[in-house]
Amino acid sequence: MHEMSLMSGMLSIANDALRGLNVKRVNAVTVSVGVLSNCLTDALELAFRSLSENTVFEGARLILCEKDFLAKCSVCGKEFTASGFPVACPACTSARLAIISGDEVYIESIDYEEEVCQKSQ
Ligand SMILES: [Zn+2]
Repeated sequence: MHEMSLMSGMLSIANDALRGLNVKRVNAVTVSVGVLSNCLTDALELAFRSLSENTVFEGARLILCEKDFLAKCSVCGKEFTASGFPVACPACTSARLAIISGDEVYIESIDYEEEVCQKSQ
């Protein structure tokens, strides 16, 4: 299940990013999922639930944003986005194309609350 290792990597990056901040609670984590990543959203959700246990991410909402892929026509050179196959160039209708991007999975943003006043504890 590569969703588990993907999520584990993302959470460790997110953890590093939040280190040093007075994070009280993470409300939501927004993850961008390229349509060519072969990631199952259910599996990502499951991985997030199990990996976030006993961390600052526990209980946070996972928001998955599916992203179209970017392709470039090999005939006329036009770049365009598409969400699935089969794909034809919108300019010349050729089906010969190169995939430029669309398999990335990464954290887009983290919505968190900061500890406002530490002295009141
Ligand atoms: Zn074309």
